[in-house]
Amino acid sequence: MRRHGGRLICDARLSSLSRQPKGFYAQTGQGTIAASMVINAAGAWGDEVARMAGLSPIGLSPKRRTALVFKPEKTAVMDDWPLVIDFAETIYFKPEQGRILASPADETPMPPCDVQPDEMDIALTIDRLEKLSTLDVPKILNRWAGLRSFAPDRAPVVGPDGDCGDFIWCVGQGGYGIQTAPAMAALTKARALGRDLPDGLAGHDVRAACYDPARFRHPKL
Ligand SMILES: Cc1cc2nc3c(=O)[nH]c(=O)nc-3n(C[C@H](O)[C@H](O)[C@H](O)COP(=O)(O)OP(=O)(O)OC[C@H]3O[C@@H](n4cnc5c(N)ncnc54)[C@H](O)[C@@H]3O)c2cc1C
Repeated sequence: MRRHGGRLICDARLSSLSRQPKGFYAQTGQGTIAASMVINAAGAWGDEVARMAGLSPIGLSPKRRTALVFKPEKTAVMDDWPLVIDFAETIYFKPEQGRILASPADETPMPPCDVQPDEMDIALTIDRLEKLSTLDVPKILNRWAGLRSFAPDRAPVVGPDGDCGDFIWCVGQGGYGIQTAPAMAALTKARALGRDLPDGLAGHDVRAACYDPARFRHPKL
């Protein structure tokens, strides 16, 4: 990006986004930025950013997901253990560098915020782990929570807004935003530039229409 003359501006909270006849003015903590195009990759805040630009939200639902890490005392953790998830999806755990990462697979609806782990979710995780496995949890080494955001049909939302073609959505990755990041970036780029999807996506039968924000206005398409 820098080789192409791009500039990365961090710690710049967007406080307003006004649409101009051509492009946008973005008020940020680092000053006003004029832009011909905006990519809305604001995660749980995606609808909020659209509203700032006077555009309709798509109905994103941010949901809290909790995780914790511990090292069992009675069992040596092997790195080649598989990820384990119960059929009802009430818990999953996997090895991580000699420790276990576990989650109660929670999906608690929340407004967009700097979310923190809930003590009850931590306690539930340990209870389910001890019932379903022989692993002991002597001490929790790390715990955190984050927001996973879902569109109404739980598929990602990528492409130009129906009312403003220079406002590009890239949200709603749910629980797969890390693994899908390269593909989401390639899809976003193709949609923003009005290009065909690259072979890496089209070859896997990825169809832009499945992710188009317009599907929420025309649910039958
Ligand atoms: C516990 C947990 C486990 C997960 N496990 C996995 C996994 O195993 N694999 C996987 O693929 N995914 C996983 N995910 C999901 C993954 O983390 C998300 O899908 C991904 O982070 C979404 O990335 P994003 O960049 O779109 O949104 P975010 O990571 O939410 O980033 C959005 C950014 O926009 C910023 N922002 C919002 N509003 C403004 C504003 N007004 N001004 C400036 N900045 C703003 C926010 O501060 C934030 O930094 C997990 C999530 C959680 C919580």
